[in-house]
Parts: sequence; C-alpha cells; structure tokens
Amino acid sequence: GKTSVTLLGLGAMGTALARTWLAAGHPLTVWNRTPARSAPLAAEGAVVAGSAAAAVAANTLVVVCLMDDASVEETLSGADLTGKDVVNLTTGTPGEARARAAWAGGRGARYLDGGIMAVPPMIGTPGSGGYVFYSGSRELFERHRETLAVPAGTTWAGEDAGGAALHDVALLSAMYGMFAGAAHAFALIRKSDVDPAAFAPHLADWLGAMAPSVHQTAAQLRSGDYTRDVVSNLAMQVAGTPTFLRTAEEQGVSPELLTPYFALMRRRLAEGSGEEDLTGVIDLLAR
Ligand code: NDP
Repeated sequence: GKTSVTLLGLGAMGTALARTWLAAGHPLTVWNRTPARSAPLAAEGAVVAGSAAAAVAANTLVVVCLMDDASVEETLSGADLTGKDVVNLTTGTPGEARARAAWAGGRGARYLDGGIMAVPPMIGTPGSGGYVFYSGSRELFERHRETLAVPAGTTWAGEDAGGAALHDVALLSAMYGMFAGAAHAFALIRKSDVDPAAFAPHLADWLGAMAPSVHQTAAQLRSGDYTRDVVSNLAMQVAGTPTFLRTAEEQGVSPELLTPYFALMRRRLAEGSGEEDLTGVIDLLAR
C-alpha cells in the first residue's frame, strides 16, 4: 500500500500538500496549532491528531511545514522522534537546517530538509514547474522519493543538510535582483507614459534572452578565466554606466537600485582587467 504520512502544519502550503497525498491515496495524519484548519481535511479523509506528539507517534514519515525554524523546534520538542523520518519543508537558512538536522539526529531521527520552489497552486499540478530541493539524508530521500514526488518534483541538493535552503535562497535572491531591475525599467517608461502592458512583453523577452548568460558565468567561475568567451567586456560596460544614470536623471527616476551594482563593476575594473566579463563582481561579494 501507499506510505502513511504525518503532516504538521496546515497553512496555505501544508493544506496544499495534504490534499495531494489524500488524493493519491496515502493515509494521512495531520496536526495544526489552530485546530479549525484541520476540519476540511478531516472531511477529505485525513486523521486529525489531538497533539503534535500524537501525530508524530502515528507514522514513521513525519513531514513538517510550519512558519519558521522556531515554530518547528517548538512543535517537535514535545514529540518522541526516535526512529522517525523527519522531512522538514519549512523555509529557513542553511545554518538553521544544519542545526535542525543535528538536533533531530540527537533525538534519534533521520533528517531531510526541503526547500519548496513552488507556490501552493503549483502543488499537485504536474507541468507547473514547481519542485522541491532536498538535502541531508540521501537514504531517507531514496526511501520516500515516491511519496515526496506526489505534491511536486524532487531535486537532490546534496548531503549537506543546508543544501536545499542554500539553493532555495540563492534562486530567490536572483529573482529579487530581476524584480529590482524590472521595477527600475517600469519606473523609467512610466515617466514617458509608455503603456506598461505594451512594454512588458519586451521586458519578459529580454530577461529571457539574457538568462542563459548564467551558463557562461558558471563556465568562467569553473575555469577561473573571466576573459573566456567575453561578448561585452567590463571596460565597455563600465563606460556605458553614465548613460543609465543620466537616463534615470532625465526621467526623474531614482538610480538607487542600479548604483550598488555599478559601484561593484567600477571597483572590479579599478582592481582588475577591462577585458573580463562581469564575473569578477562575484569575487568582490565573496570577500
Ligand atoms: P501560512 O502562514 O499559511 O501557515 C503557517 C503555518 O505555521 C500554520 O499552520 C501555523 O499554524 C503554523 N505555525 C506558525 N507558528 C507556529 C508555532 N509557533 N507553532 C506551531 N505552528 C505554527 O504559511 P505557509 O503554509 O504558506 O508556509 C509554510 C512554510 O512553507 C513556510 O516556511 C513558507 O516559507 C514555506 N513556503 C511557502 C510558500 C507559499 O507560497 N505559501 C512557498 C514556498 C515555501 P496556525 O494555523 O495555528 O497559525
């Protein structure tokens, strides 16, 4: 039969996860701090536990999807974790994940950490592009892979328990850089009454066309040769930055989202070679 699952946390994400396991025929025991959130799932076939400890006791596989690491500690401290397979899908830092893995190990549990790269509507929706990074116990990952694949795709991020959180936060950090760039672009065009809806397709296409440049960055980082296959070198790009700042000024838009990156580009040019790509900026950040 299908693996029985215990799920702690029935927020927006936990509820979405719960529904996919129920729909796929996995026996499911749930617990939520605010009991009212369990009622709809009980009607759909979930067993509602009276306490987190009782929910943990019900099954070997214990999936946790709570607000933050502090709520995970608070929720699991009263439970007997001996022999449990704890899969923590709560978002946190890599350091928190490593510490939680050691904490769970000290209480006799195996531990797998997860970083969910999806919003609730993507859960249980094949083809949505949503998936979960997993890191920590490879043995636990292999044992429960089929069950874990029910809500979303599974991507291995290494034996370091912090790996899933690291990949998750790194991707979301890049996303915020993209959002920042898009915010500046919209601010510029809005000042000239360009229709945002007419501009958006150009923006989406351009960001899409530029995105594969990360592969070249990766190749340069691997080889240590930042001049390899350079298309637009650092000297040329730094020379172009005044155009961006003057355009912002002409349009009456604050350059504050652009200037930190430009400052790093200029510092790298001052310290290194103008023949390089922008990859050297990464070295400055790593100091
Ligand atoms: P919600 O705010 O909808 O739910 C939070 C859950 O945490 C609730 O079940 C809440 O219980 C519980 N909780 C909070 N504090 C405590 C505590 N001290 N003790 C016990 N339970 C507690 O959040 P989501 O379900 O959306 O998110 C859950 C996790 O999933 C988070 O780590 C989030 O970062 C991650 N995630 C969410 C995404 C999203 O788009 N929603 C996307 C990717 C990851 P109660 O009902 O009693 O308040």
